[in-house]
Amino acid sequence: MIDIVPLPALKDNYIWTLRTATHAAVVDPGEARPVLEYLARERLELCAILATHHHPDHVGGIPQLLAAKRVPVYGPKDEPIATLTQPVGEGDTVPIPELGVTLSVLDIPGHTRAHIAYYGVESLFCGDTLFACGCGRLFEGTPEQMMASLTKLAALPDATKVYCGHEYTLANIGFAQQVEPQNAALAARLARDRALRAAGKPTLPSTLGEERATNPFLRWREPAVIASANKYLGARVSDPVRVFAAIREWKNRA
Ligand code: ZN
Ligand code: FE
Repeated sequence: MIDIVPLPALKDNYIWTLRTATHAAVVDPGEARPVLEYLARERLELCAILATHHHPDHVGGIPQLLAAKRVPVYGPKDEPIATLTQPVGEGDTVPIPELGVTLSVLDIPGHTRAHIAYYGVESLFCGDTLFACGCGRLFEGTPEQMMASLTKLAALPDATKVYCGHEYTLANIGFAQQVEPQNAALAARLARDRALRAAGKPTLPSTLGEERATNPFLRWREPAVIASANKYLGARVSDPVRVFAAIREWKNRA
């Protein structure tokens, strides 16, 4: 059995740490210090590093971690991440024998040209693609790519726990309520997640079932979302790509 622990890093990043009593693997170490402190405090041996995409707030800590211990570094192939030892893509697997788990790799481009997710043990590590009640900005990809990536993730089982890269949840729920003011599940989610934040706790992981019920970036087929996109655009569109792109653009300006 493994535990999955959030290590807060930088401004609002989480470094997800998969651990047993003796070993740990980290996802997206944007800085090394919180990881090294946690490993020392818990007397854990680092056994793998997993990166979802090349942004510095997800890979910045890797060189310093490697200076402390040489471990395999997984990440998207053909991307500018100099420290990768195991470039991977869709269909590849990531065996972590020290933890007794094997994760599978999904290609989910959109936020960056190549961006991957790691999936296994009913958990999804999705970096900056799917956020709790939101999605990443389209820095290097198109709305079509992001929609395909989110659709791929949304096809995983309802109970899948979503471990994303940032604590953006409350702001995302606020925006989602602008898109779907009548969505009761959103109001319930806001109340719960506000209480979590007030207690200093992460709002993550969420579940995919919850995301399907509340995340506007998975809900571009809903009449209420289409109506709000039309209002934003001041035009009548029903093409899913245009609805999605409108919601994404609206969020960028919100
Ligand atoms: Zn990013
Ligand atoms: Fe990020």
